[in-house]
Amino acid sequence: MLSVSIGLLWNEPDIRGTLTGRFHAQCFTDCNRWLDQQTISGDLLARANNTSQPSLEWAIRLGECLTQQSAEQLLNKVASADLLARGEILEAGKKWETKLGLLDNRVWWPVIKLESRDDATQVMKALREFQAIGLTIIRLTRPEMKTRFEFSLSDFSTTVVRVKLTPADADATFTLQHVPIGRGFHWERREALTYRGELELFATPDGGLSAANHLPLEQYVETTVGSEMRHDLPAAFSQAQAVAARSTVLATANRHHYSDGFDLCHDDHCQCYQGIVREAEAVIEPIRRQAEGAALHQPPPLTRRRCALCEVLWRCERSVCRSVGRRGAGVFCSKTVRRFCCSGFEQRAHCRRVLAQSAARIL
Ligand SMILES: [Zn+2]
Repeated sequence: MLSVSIGLLWNEPDIRGTLTGRFHAQCFTDCNRWLDQQTISGDLLARANNTSQPSLEWAIRLGECLTQQSAEQLLNKVASADLLARGEILEAGKKWETKLGLLDNRVWWPVIKLESRDDATQVMKALREFQAIGLTIIRLTRPEMKTRFEFSLSDFSTTVVRVKLTPADADATFTLQHVPIGRGFHWERREALTYRGELELFATPDGGLSAANHLPLEQYVETTVGSEMRHDLPAAFSQAQAVAARSTVLATANRHHYSDGFDLCHDDHCQCYQGIVREAEAVIEPIRRQAEGAALHQPPPLTRRRCALCEVLWRCERSVCRSVGRRGAGVFCSKTVRRFCCSGFEQRAHCRRVLAQSAARIL
């Protein structure tokens, strides 16, 4: 069974929540042992320690390449010997074992490593002379599960480096307070959201705390489709959205949040995943009937995104458009999407149906 880890909160000073139903609590100490194991429910609080943080390592990413060789070629174009000496090739992404065989979404990043974000900003100006676009500043330091934080659950409290809370009952859920929705958008707000699956808490290299939700991919897709779309649309809409949601996970896991310690985030940045309150039987039933379809184009899964304006069409890689793209297959380049955003409801409904029926392949 494929599973996925979703970041719900990251780099927060504290995390508050409630476990409903019984959970198996495992608290990992920095002495490499599980401090305590018990089945428990109740209120939880994790609070970051204000201890010294490791110095962060930054880099300028020169691009994203589909092979290590092309990443090396791009890196070697950097004219300055001093900068080239700081060069490195990083591997991002993930390999998935599916019924169809191995799906591989890995990419290779040529990077110039630097010690601070300010350094990176300065060096970026020099690099723009050899490459005008595609440069991105990224943080390289990843969570190492070494930084301690305070954790309490019900009447139990301790100092840990990592906490894992696994449901002991089939219907056990956890609620987290103040989960941000729409980070950086005008609709940004915070809500208490309830989720299924396992909850993991750990410290970030920036001195804060993160919460990640581990769960089966199919359970994630059911919640995501309910979060992304209305519940009163025809069943084919939910099925098409499920294809896009699955494909997005397979194509982007461990790439957009390389240094955060999870596969995707729960927010608009990756895909909306807003907990069980957004789920509905009218959405879940057609998704289960569809038997785990995903839009695949070998060798990698499609990098496909929903068009936010019309909730119907997706952008995809230009090369994929050339090889399999035609209107009937529900595969569009971004230019086509822009044109169709203004088209009528019936046209969009047709595209959803076609995508659900013909672009999906069974995992
Ligand atoms: Zn994200």
